[in-house]
Amino acid sequence: MGRRYDLIIFDWDGTLMDSVGRIVRCWQQAAEAMGLPEVAESAVRGIIGLSMSEAMTQLAPGLNEVEQTRFREQYRNLYADPTLAPTPVFDGVESLLTQLNEQGHKLAVATGKARHGLERAFGHSGIQHHFVGSRTACETASKPDPQMVLELCQEQGVTPARTLMVGDAWFDLEMGRRAGSESIGVSYGAGDTPHLMTAQPRAVIHHPLELLQWV
Ligand SMILES: [Mg+2]
Repeated sequence: MGRRYDLIIFDWDGTLMDSVGRIVRCWQQAAEAMGLPEVAESAVRGIIGLSMSEAMTQLAPGLNEVEQTRFREQYRNLYADPTLAPTPVFDGVESLLTQLNEQGHKLAVATGKARHGLERAFGHSGIQHHFVGSRTACETASKPDPQMVLELCQEQGVTPARTLMVGDAWFDLEMGRRAGSESIGVSYGAGDTPHLMTAQPRAVIHHPLELLQWV
C-alpha cells in the first residue's frame, strides 16, 4: 500500500520537545517579575503553541505596547537561561522521524515559537535534519489560522488533502482542519484528550511511535 500522506507537519512544544514544564515556569516567573497577578499552570498550558502576541492577549490583557515588549524580553531571557532544566525531545521521536523519512514522507514544523526560538531549539534538539521546512507564528498567522499549513503545502508542492497535522493542542488540530488536512492529536503534551477530540482528529495517540500506525 502506498503512503497516505506526502507531508507530515508537526507542532514543536509538547509534541516533539518535552518543553511544557519549562514554558509554564518561565511564563509564571515573567508575570511575577512584571508584577502581574499569578497565572495558574492550567491557564499557561492552554496558550502553549499560540504566538506570544495571542498568548498575551489571552493571559495578560491590558498590557500596553511597552509592557508587552518588556514581558516578551523577560520571557525570552528566562527561557534562554542555561541553568534551567534541559528540554529533551520525547522518547521515541528520533526513531519516529527516522522511520518516516525512510518511508519517503516529507516532514515539517509549524510552531507558535518565534523564529529565533525555533532555531535555538532546532540547534539543541539534534533533529533539525529530518525537516524540509518550517513556519513560525511571527512569520505568518497564529494557530488556528490555517496559513502555516497552507504555506508549507505550497512550498513543498503537496495538497492539504495529502498532508497530516500532528499536535498536542486543540488549535494545532483545528489549524489542520481549516486547511483541509487530516490530523492526529498527541496526549502527552499540554492538551487533554476530550478537548483535542473536538477538532475531529483521526486519533489521539499516547506515544510518538504510535503515529506509524496512522500513516
Ligand atoms: Mg504544542
